[in-house]
Amino acid sequence: MRCPGCGTEVAPTRRSCPLCQALIHGEELKRLAREAEEAEAADRPAEALHAWRRALELLPPASGQAEAITRRAEALSRKVEVSGGAGTPAGGLSGVWKGGGLAAVLIFLLTKAKFLLLGFTKLGTLGSMILSLGVYWAVFGWKLALGLILSIYVHEMGHVAALSKLGFPASAPTFIPGLGAFIRLKQRPVSPREDARVGLAGPLWGLAAALVALGVHLAGGGPIWAALARIGAWINLFNLLPLGPLDGGRAFGALSKGQRLIIAAWIGGVWFFTHEGLLLLLLIGAVLWLWGPRKEEEGDRLAFFQYAGLVAVLGALCMLPVPGVPS
Ligand SMILES: [Zn+2]
Ligand SMILES: [Zn+2]
Repeated sequence: MRCPGCGTEVAPTRRSCPLCQALIHGEELKRLAREAEEAEAADRPAEALHAWRRALELLPPASGQAEAITRRAEALSRKVEVSGGAGTPAGGLSGVWKGGGLAAVLIFLLTKAKFLLLGFTKLGTLGSMILSLGVYWAVFGWKLALGLILSIYVHEMGHVAALSKLGFPASAPTFIPGLGAFIRLKQRPVSPREDARVGLAGPLWGLAAALVALGVHLAGGGPIWAALARIGAWINLFNLLPLGPLDGGRAFGALSKGQRLIIAAWIGGVWFFTHEGLLLLLLIGAVLWLWGPRKEEEGDRLAFFQYAGLVAVLGALCMLPVPGVPS
């Protein structure tokens, strides 16, 4: 790569020339800006957003242009959110398969399994689910494992769908424990609001998978479907722990102090009715967040309602009796 300003040899990863400060990818940036402006003028905000995000990858992060584009992208991303449109399961699918997703899926299965085991052992006696997992295994065996892997996959797809809806270039996601599809991104979601959308999309899709399993069980599919709904719900509830890298941590970053307080009380209430031990961990996390960082003055209402709804429904699903397994 040569600097278009002074001709010096520069590494292709550089965004500006170390000698003359010229932009290395000026031509590509102009093309992307044109593309974005045309899309904006034609009222295709999702397309414009995608082009601006790609432009941001080529600009020095501290530059004035990058700041201006970031503001523009933020406005567009709000617009895209209202209009819906992208972010459908199909969109998420294409995002995953685009980059030859099979390897990513395998990596995801391996890392996620390790992560789950770690979570199970660390939590000790707090989660009722852990204690009975061996019993579940003895009753249902590999079919249960397969079903759970699928339900975790659906969860990760939720993240991918939300990312592509917000215009982030969705390369094949490399799933790493607790971080989902984020790691492959050249940019992270910028605002706490976007971070919360992407974070909560996983448990929302995971909940959908658990409800499908519940539906099949109620339609006479057999007790394994009840087990899948219940354990699936528990895993998604675990991901709502308000800890830094977990989905719950991403949601809490967008909440105001008042909202965090209400959520803490809400978790306590759901625990009172369900006696699901995991909720006590969520409660501790939520209380600690009362002194946590807050980037936005006003809390995000959608994140607040999504989080509260997820805790209630997932908590209730954790009580689902599984025929043939003592609870
Ligand atoms: Zn130069
Ligand atoms: Zn997740």
